[in-house]
Amino acid sequence: MWQATVLSLFPEMFPGPLGFSLAGRALETGVWSLEAVDIRRFARDRHGTVDDTPFGGGAGMVMRPDVLSDAIAAVKTPERPTIYLSPRGRPFDQARARALAAGAGVTLVCGRFEGIDERVIEAYGLEEVSIGDMVLSGGEIAAYVVLDACIRLLPGVVGTPQSLAEESFEEGLLEYPLYTRPAAWTGPDGIERIVPDILQTGHHAKIAAWRREKAEEITRQRRPDLWTRYVARRGEGLKDSSERKGKGQ
Ligand code: SAH
Repeated sequence: MWQATVLSLFPEMFPGPLGFSLAGRALETGVWSLEAVDIRRFARDRHGTVDDTPFGGGAGMVMRPDVLSDAIAAVKTPERPTIYLSPRGRPFDQARARALAAGAGVTLVCGRFEGIDERVIEAYGLEEVSIGDMVLSGGEIAAYVVLDACIRLLPGVVGTPQSLAEESFEEGLLEYPLYTRPAAWTGPDGIERIVPDILQTGHHAKIAAWRREKAEEITRQRRPDLWTRYVARRGEGLKDSSERKGKGQ
């Protein structure tokens, strides 16, 4: 069983959205387990104080190292990485989700207020992970993101494993456009849009080629950073062919 432990000042937020749909069913059937630990339980005074003002001044409060350390020490195990969700962290991505899902689980530390005392990060060698270049009010929603991305990769969670392999990022490309019935649909603009013919032919090789072409086109247009990496990975051969294609546009 893949084990997730979340340290938070708001443990009632869990499982929250992870209790629904794929992740929720997997939690019920024991594919993964969740332990939400209340950091405040480790407070040292009867008021349950977990934060204090920052040394050096400035706005906001900082989570105390002694309280948070006791919380981490109570749950930390060597088999699972301990991650602090933080906007300063390394950007979370599909590769990190794959690596985490392949392991025994994860321990996630959710910050609140201005964040946590630097010495805890140092003392525990916490890995800092960010879910994007924006500031959230707490680590809990970032924890949902990390856990959801991992859980759907656990064996048996998603019905057809093939659908995982074809998704955005798995090959370094964004996904091709998706269509379902009805084949002809009139939108609010009064225009009738028809599903591309090729998708209705049942010709698997041609469909696969069309999808790859679209995935490449979308990635090239929207995410030059991903495109550059993809091209580099596929070697010089692909680079040449995309340049040839690009010339006509
Ligand atoms: N003062 C900090 C922001 C604190 S936000 C700064 O300027 O960097 C409060 C908490 O929310 C953080 O401790 C962290 O756990 C969480 N958090 C905020 N933004 C995040 C992000 N992009 N990714 C992951 N966690 C985030």
